[in-house]
Amino acid sequence: MLTNRSKLVVKKDMTFWERIYLPAILSGISITIKHLFRKSATVRYPEKKREISAIWRGQHVLKRDENGAERCTACGLCAVACPAEAITMVAAERKKGEEALYREEKYAASYEINMLRCIFCGLCEEACPKEAIFLTDRIVSTDYGRGQFIYDKSKLVEPVDKRIDVSKRQTSAVLEFKKLKYFSHNK
Ligand code: SF4
Ligand code: SF4
Repeated sequence: MLTNRSKLVVKKDMTFWERIYLPAILSGISITIKHLFRKSATVRYPEKKREISAIWRGQHVLKRDENGAERCTACGLCAVACPAEAITMVAAERKKGEEALYREEKYAASYEINMLRCIFCGLCEEACPKEAIFLTDRIVSTDYGRGQFIYDKSKLVEPVDKRIDVSKRQTSAVLEFKKLKYFSHNK
């Protein structure tokens, strides 16, 4: 039990009206009829799509730097910041000759996000000191198996020849903040 707000449940005998179910059925029908004349709260997705904000938080991307090397240094700050505990990673040391693949001396040999746990809060993006992880306006695809929602590096790291534009998420206020080198976060 997480709180002390427990409630004693008592099983009462049903009244006559509850036993014939008629008032409950009529009440249900009246709610349905009322909703028939209201504006629909849903849209016929995927034929019709809702307009989304330019900084809408969707599927993550792990960015590469301007030379194509992976920016993530497997520091784990995103995983610590994640309230849903959706991120896991295994760090590895960069070997000689791998400088073009990984920007830092330590990199993520594996990096996974459980999209079923993720609540798309964006805290991983804010915690990252390397500008390695961003949320994008891409929608996480639906699937039948839970296992398909564990996104590994093959789904997260942007392809070298097909970069994901995240400039919309870097508003002028964010860019100004990142210039402040006295924050160790920005070094
Ligand atoms: S968006 Fe939020 S919940 Fe999702 S992985 Fe990042 S920190 Fe975790
Ligand atoms: S994505 Fe950023 S915060 Fe997360 S491990 Fe990589 S460098 Fe660290």
